[in-house]
Amino acid sequence: MGPPGVGKGTQAEQMQQQLGVPHVSTGNILRAAMGDVGSPLGEKVRRFVESGGLVPDALMGDLIAERLERNDAKAGFILDGFPRTLEQVSILEDVLSRLGLAVDRVLMLVVPDAEIVRRLSGRRTCGSCGAVFHLESRPPVVPGVCDVCGEALVQRPDDNEAVIRNRLKVYTDQTLPVADAYRAKGVLVEIDGSGEVEDVRARLNAGLGRVVGRS
Ligand code: AMP
Repeated sequence: MGPPGVGKGTQAEQMQQQLGVPHVSTGNILRAAMGDVGSPLGEKVRRFVESGGLVPDALMGDLIAERLERNDAKAGFILDGFPRTLEQVSILEDVLSRLGLAVDRVLMLVVPDAEIVRRLSGRRTCGSCGAVFHLESRPPVVPGVCDVCGEALVQRPDDNEAVIRNRLKVYTDQTLPVADAYRAKGVLVEIDGSGEVEDVRARLNAGLGRVVGRS
């Protein structure tokens, strides 16, 4: 977890290769549905996502249950962008207990707000596979083209200043209590998210600790 633009998607995408478990990003799932013309889910969630608000918990609960019940998630998964409210924490607990699983670690990336705005305004995302780039710190090899799948890079419509401000407020009001809940359970690890992608990755690996080494 961590505020918008902190680097969750970039890190989770790399971590999925390292750990051999899928990166489950609720934001990517919602954007894929919104990009799919005529998708009922896409139409239901569009106004929430475009304003920087949160999609209702019940809808997110159905979506995450369906995703985590798939075969590729049996050995574990990296959640990115879920849970974002206390209600979603209890929804996740219910889904995981049905599957005989539990949260091993909650890694929370932290960076100053000014850095968030810089990162979000330079962020470019692949409209097809969801890979994330940055105009300055992680430019694609060919400008405007995804290194991973060759499709066009786009700026997310919710990466404009007014919406960014709303997303940061929503994070403070609704998602920081989630961090408090996981801190109380003893699974929260706070990680400095500033600096180079590789440095943050090394800190995350240290934060994962024995979970990575577990066979
Ligand atoms: P993200 O890519 O994680 O920044 O998510 C983009 C947008 O999708 C958010 O601003 C929300 O509108 C919506 N969204 C993603 N995950 C959730 C969630 N767990 N609960 C509610 N809304 C979500």
